Amino acid sequence: MPEILSKLNQDGIAVLRNVRLPACVAPAGLPVVSDGLVACDITLAGGRLAKISPGSGGGFGGAMLWPCPIDAHTHIDKGQVSNRSPNRDGTFTGAQQAAARDRQNYPGLDDLRSRAGFALRSAFSHGTVALRSHVDTADGFHDRFSVLCELAQDWTGRLDVQLAPFIGVEEPPERIAEIALIARHSTSGVLSAFLYECSGLPGFLDLVMSLADRHSLALDFHADETLDPTSNCTRAVAQAVLRNRFEGAVLVGHCCSLSVQSPAELDRTLDLIAQAKLNIVSLPMCNTYLMSRQGCTPRLRGVAPVHEMRVRGIKVVFATDNSRDGFHSYGDLDMPELFRDAVRIMHLDHPVGDWPQTVLNHAAEAIGRPALGQLREGGPADFILFKARNWNEFVARPQSDRIVVRNGAPIQIPPPDFSELDGLEGMTA
Ligand SMILES: [Zn+2]
Repeated sequence: MPEILSKLNQDGIAVLRNVRLPACVAPAGLPVVSDGLVACDITLAGGRLAKISPGSGGGFGGAMLWPCPIDAHTHIDKGQVSNRSPNRDGTFTGAQQAAARDRQNYPGLDDLRSRAGFALRSAFSHGTVALRSHVDTADGFHDRFSVLCELAQDWTGRLDVQLAPFIGVEEPPERIAEIALIARHSTSGVLSAFLYECSGLPGFLDLVMSLADRHSLALDFHADETLDPTSNCTRAVAQAVLRNRFEGAVLVGHCCSLSVQSPAELDRTLDLIAQAKLNIVSLPMCNTYLMSRQGCTPRLRGVAPVHEMRVRGIKVVFATDNSRDGFHSYGDLDMPELFRDAVRIMHLDHPVGDWPQTVLNHAAEAIGRPALGQLREGGPADFILFKARNWNEFVARPQSDRIVVRNGAPIQIPPPDFSELDGLEGMTA
């Protein structure tokens, strides 16, 4: 890889010979060399992809090159607190308790700024170009949202940070309307909600769709994050979209309970999801951590039935979700790690084919950034180079030696040291 750095550091024009791109995000007509990959030479000029032509051999020896990925679902306001506010038993209830404890014990805005900044630095160093984060609207929301908007502003041009105020299904309508107004902020444009089965669910969905319509907001739901087969909130969202003729973008996350529905029930749910054109985001690292934790070896993986969805033309994306908090004790906002785990957990292989779309162009489209997540002539030279030459080599190793290139130059910025958080109240190594 040192020779790669020297080539990329040249001023002016540089040619990357013999790199392999995921075919699903590359220009058409390039030669296919193995499962889902095409070979090409890329000419960089002025920080852009000046030319992408069929591969000529030699050069980089077939190293894989991705456009920078998009993380469509995170919680940068909650993260980096596993040490001081751990989930005591690893369950969903334990996660809710840990989050409430952390919010109550450590409400400082500097604390939030440091943790969220740490998360963004991690994401950037791993190669992410855009991310959406939900933001809890509990006590002190206005101040916390302001801090995060300032942070997002600071990252403009490096990381596109989209903030989605996150409300509960049983909050008073006037409170929901107030939050929808705040969601019109330029760093947002999205209203987010946590759904569970309750009598008020249809009315709540009608309300948020009417507010989203009025304020031109996208909607993003956490739904069916449980292995109770009777939980059918994703279906309720689809029905509400059809009932309200809602035409805005709708992304639905988790959908874990669909994995335990009967085949007939699942068919009905998937028909409605396809009809309502919902996009689905599956969070496999977080859900394998949290689901099926009953004091014995987990029997179920708790991940959405993504193969069945894709067969029906439903757009599926993958994202990291929580990192180092009660909902997921691990994670580092690392999208290549997430994709490797998704391949293994959800059998996205034999062939891998166009599954990379789930963290690249489809993830970009799902958060309203359709220009990102693809490689095209004239586009920005924002990409990740991996030593791996095929999907087997990619999944086999952690790809920690990847090189992230932005505007045609390697960023050479490692993820922040965990010890940087030691000074925050309550933190111990
Ligand atoms: Zn989430």
